[in-house]
Amino acid sequence: MIETSFTEEDVKIESSLRPQFLKDYVGQEKLKENLRVYIEAAKERGESLDHALFYGPPGLGKTTLAGVIANEMGVNIRITSGPAIEKPGDLAAVLNSLQEGDVLFIDEIHRLSRQVEEVLYPAMEDYAIDIMIGKGSGAKSIRLELPHFTLIGATTRAGLLTAPLRDRFGMVSRLEFYTTKELTDIINHSAKKLSVSIDAEGAKELARRSRGTPRLANRMLKRVRDFAQVKFDGVITREVAEHALDLLEVDRLGLDQTDRNMLLAIMQNFGGGPVGLETLAASLGEDAGTIEDVYEPYLLQNGLLMRTPRGRVATEAAYRHFSIPFEPKALET
Ligand code: ADP
Repeated sequence: MIETSFTEEDVKIESSLRPQFLKDYVGQEKLKENLRVYIEAAKERGESLDHALFYGPPGLGKTTLAGVIANEMGVNIRITSGPAIEKPGDLAAVLNSLQEGDVLFIDEIHRLSRQVEEVLYPAMEDYAIDIMIGKGSGAKSIRLELPHFTLIGATTRAGLLTAPLRDRFGMVSRLEFYTTKELTDIINHSAKKLSVSIDAEGAKELARRSRGTPRLANRMLKRVRDFAQVKFDGVITREVAEHALDLLEVDRLGLDQTDRNMLLAIMQNFGGGPVGLETLAASLGEDAGTIEDVYEPYLLQNGLLMRTPRGRVATEAAYRHFSIPFEPKALET
């Protein structure tokens, strides 16, 4: 099975495949257009870029974009994550190590604790933190000035962000799934970098099955390359891609086992829906939030699933995809 989440293996290949500048960052056109304007304006004024929040399913390029922004601004980037910053002191230390204009990237920012968040507010607004010195009645708070920095937060769970934190970002953008054409470009580019031979049809087939996600596209390229090398003559053609992806249990729409289990559960156990998210999650042994933020968006976008006020419903397209006869129910209101 191909994992959507981040694995050790990704760390190695991803750093070599990450685009460094906006011109190499494929897709997300609207977002890039806005960023170009903000970056140019900030540079002209000699200021740091406003804080930005990127949200959307994993692997769509949030971390990559933070790196691109730092490069475009000509500044350093510090990368950390919500769970890694345990105490207010941890955050204070990170903030204190920044230089003027630097980008601080906090992945999974929704996982910051309340106390840590409170240190972040004045840091984002006034570029300052308040530190308590001493204990008990003699304790006093001193204000420490920070360099002007840009906080870039990333999250798969925008809904879990507290309002005061969310409101302090000047830019809040959702990353979209990539089109087959965009993924084909990413795959061809990565193939070149990794010296993998792939023809046009092979690249398109991989793109179609990448679940709209560059991380998966790159990961599948690597897996399929192994098949091409061992079982075929080294070139990834459409036939090689199909063979390998069938073995890896990625279907023609790029759905993985969890996607399929979810749709099948709705169709076979809940009469096609509507079924409530919590009930569905319990039947799959999955976390409801993960279903909502990681799995569901792609199925919704592809018209396989619908969200109704009464719960999730499998669409006719989902029945067709699994070759299960579709019997429309009388519409319940
Ligand atoms: P996220 O932070 O959203 O989980 P990443 O930024 O880590 O995703 O992206 C995963 C990988 O996908 C990157 O290492 C990069 O190789 C590739 N990638 C992501 N977005 C793009 C893009 N727009 N163009 C080219 N490659 C991309």
